[in-house]
Amino acid sequence: MPLRLHVTRRQIVSRGLHHTCPNCGGRTLFQTGKRFALNPACPACGLKLDRGDGFFLGPFVISYTVTVAFAIVPLLVLAIFGVIGPAPTIILGGGCALALPALLYRSSWSWWLMGYFYFLPEKLPHNRGARCEDEEA
Ligand SMILES: [Zn+2]
Repeated sequence: MPLRLHVTRRQIVSRGLHHTCPNCGGRTLFQTGKRFALNPACPACGLKLDRGDGFFLGPFVISYTVTVAFAIVPLLVLAIFGVIGPAPTIILGGGCALALPALLYRSSWSWWLMGYFYFLPEKLPHNRGARCEDEEA
């Protein structure tokens, strides 16, 4: 029997791109006033955002992938073809390696949650029509 979703995959993607809670759509993913602090759970709907046991590695992988694909590799290609020298390549690469993950902190968490719930939409409490799954355990 197909699962009837109250929160559709399209909504999950939209909410992921807008950095809002995948379950309720509230701007509640991050702690107020703190740039690098994910709320452990959505204050509005109770969805557990940090799901424990290595879940935090997902945003790391996204930040790493974006940094390598859009900064490090292009810099290396420019260096290999002699467009920029080795010293600027190292300085720019190091700067990008430090700055991009910090700039992408919120986006990578939001995209990770979007991807997780896109493939597992039945894990959203609103799609289960009842309480948060974490309250049942
Ligand atoms: Zn929520």
